[in-house]
Amino acid sequence: MAVATNPLDKTDEQRAICDMVRQFADEQILPNAEHFDHEDSFPEDIVEQMKELGLFGVTIPEEYGGMGLDLTTYVMIVEELSRGWISISGVINTHFIGSYLLMKYGTDAQRHKYLPRMATGEIRAAFSLSEPELGSDVQAIKTSATKVDDGAYEINGQKMWVTNGLRSGLVFVLVKTDPNADPRHKGFTCFIAEKEPGVSENTGAYAGLTVPPQIKKMGYKGVESTELVFDGYKCPAENILGGEQAGLNAGFAQMMDALEVGRANVAARGVGLAQRALELAVRYSQERKTFGKPIAQHQAIQFKLADMATQVEAARLLTIKAARLKDAGERSDMEAGMAKLFASEAARFCAEECLRIHGGYGYSKEYEIERIYRDAPLLLIGEGTSEIQKMVIGKKLLQRYKI
Ligand SMILES: Cc1cc2nc3c(=O)[nH]c(=O)nc-3n(C[C@H](O)[C@H](O)[C@H](O)COP(=O)(O)OP(=O)(O)OC[C@H]3O[C@@H](n4cnc5c(N)ncnc54)[C@H](O)[C@@H]3O)c2cc1C
Repeated sequence: MAVATNPLDKTDEQRAICDMVRQFADEQILPNAEHFDHEDSFPEDIVEQMKELGLFGVTIPEEYGGMGLDLTTYVMIVEELSRGWISISGVINTHFIGSYLLMKYGTDAQRHKYLPRMATGEIRAAFSLSEPELGSDVQAIKTSATKVDDGAYEINGQKMWVTNGLRSGLVFVLVKTDPNADPRHKGFTCFIAEKEPGVSENTGAYAGLTVPPQIKKMGYKGVESTELVFDGYKCPAENILGGEQAGLNAGFAQMMDALEVGRANVAARGVGLAQRALELAVRYSQERKTFGKPIAQHQAIQFKLADMATQVEAARLLTIKAARLKDAGERSDMEAGMAKLFASEAARFCAEECLRIHGGYGYSKEYEIERIYRDAPLLLIGEGTSEIQKMVIGKKLLQRYKI
């Protein structure tokens, strides 16, 4: 029986698309990231080129105009984009989660209505769980929806930290629809809230949805994170994910499933960021001399490089494993949690080691590592903190190996 020697081997198709995205990152993202990061401005030109490359439809089936590729190929692409700048992958990541939700749980009508325009990037998606008073504890969501006379649902409440909150045209938003549900998770519904992209005060059919000014952040600049204020926003019942009959009060499980692929996605961002930190460290350590030789010749520096390279490789293996399991239709909640936990911590570790290797220059805005160092901590938090990943892994471990 043939044994695969390298679990990271790519198919010809995967190699071709990853080479194309790597070239895009080298030529378009890396030379411009510093400018957009410094100005905290949206990288419109880069996003337009991503549309042309079809990157908004990577996982959307061909019948809807997408590429129809699997999660494994998607995480390989995300690694390459994040090696360039994690904010660029941030523009497609919530969109990917929205399209996953539609493909898996949407009605035929919902899929036909949204997926073709999502595949081209004409409309982009955000997803929204967090609120000012909660992030980890999703079941504490207070934003609510109530059915009103015309059969629509009125949404009221405030959401927090919505990536792509301003420029998206669709928000997959989890709200409470049955305050008396026992257990609580059976009382939440995912609505597909439509809005005007780029507009703060929505009017007309979307009146009642306001996007306050974007939140100022330490890093992860360029892509906006916003609050969303729902105040009497009307959402038709047909915009309940999966339809009113199947989707009402079924939103919690849908969102938790989406978080599983979201975690593989964040893990891939960690791999890409860590890979870039490693590349910069390997290069700089051969250029900079102390005590008469390149610092790369000091064993202490080589040990740092060795630790970084080992972490990058291990993070990549865990990420690919989680994605492959999901593609094979197997449970991957524990593996996605492990990948997200390990890769985000590896990204933080590699960013710091790279900064140390750069000495004082690592602290200067002239060097790329300064941005990477500010970007890395986001990965420890988004899609569930490291503590939450450990809770998920621990719980699943005890379920799988119950005595
Ligand atoms: C830049 C950015 C973009 C984001 N984008 C989105 C988005 O698009 N959509 C969205 O819905 N959310 C988004 N988030 C929110 C993110 O998912 C939450 O910040 C995250 O889940 C953590 O929630 P929290 O900030 O409320 O922290 P909290 O839940 O308040 O946690 C605070 C601390 O307590 C720890 N903790 C909490 N509970 C436990 C426990 N039971 N045991 C041990 N430790 C615990 C946490 O690990 C953390 O260290 C984004 C966040 C950021 C920073």
